[in-house]
Amino acid sequence: MSEATALVRLQEIDLTLLRLSKAADQLPQRGKVVAARAASKKVMSELTKIMGQRKDVEIELADLEDCKKLLEGHVAECQEQAKDVVDYRDTLDLEEQLSLLAKKLEKVDFDTERLLERLETVERAERNAEALKARLAKEEQALTESWRQAAADITEQAGKLKAERADIVSGISPELLDRYEKARKRFGGVAVETLVGNKPSACRVTLQPSSFADIRRSASEVTTCPYCKRILVVSQEA
Ligand SMILES: [Zn+2]
Repeated sequence: MSEATALVRLQEIDLTLLRLSKAADQLPQRGKVVAARAASKKVMSELTKIMGQRKDVEIELADLEDCKKLLEGHVAECQEQAKDVVDYRDTLDLEEQLSLLAKKLEKVDFDTERLLERLETVERAERNAEALKARLAKEEQALTESWRQAAADITEQAGKLKAERADIVSGISPELLDRYEKARKRFGGVAVETLVGNKPSACRVTLQPSSFADIRRSASEVTTCPYCKRILVVSQEA
């Protein structure tokens, strides 16, 4: 392989490596994984809130149950006392107490009913959030796997190209390589152009007949483009 051919291949490799590196950074899975993680975080915080609400309702229900037992105890006591009461006044007093206890029990039952409805709502919300959490975790896992696979494919391609690059570089003189590296920085990647007819491939400015004749006459494979100053490969004969 001639030095000019090696130089053209070197640039192809470097441009492909650049493209692969950009592709790795811009893999669509990356953004999707980030979005899935953000969604999971939101669901987790929602779930924590819902679980807190459920525990609050459960505590309130337990309190009401204790309250009910206490009231029922009082009712039993009053009914026990009523058996022995003979005095009219005491009877009235006990009846009043029993009526008051009945009202309190009614209120406890009403509150319990209301809280049970609330518990049902909260438990439904908790189930939905749990299901969403599981679905998101599965999605994130699949996306991460697909991301890992795509990144591994790119790394493999890049690895092969880097090995070829090392081989190619050994066939290029240090001076030309140095020129190439400097031009690569200066021109943002495309440092080498080839001649297509009488037009350089990168700047595409048609060479003046005199320049074209000069280049042809010099018989060197590699020169400098008179317009854009890139490395101009005139011929790539093996
Ligand atoms: Zn040019």
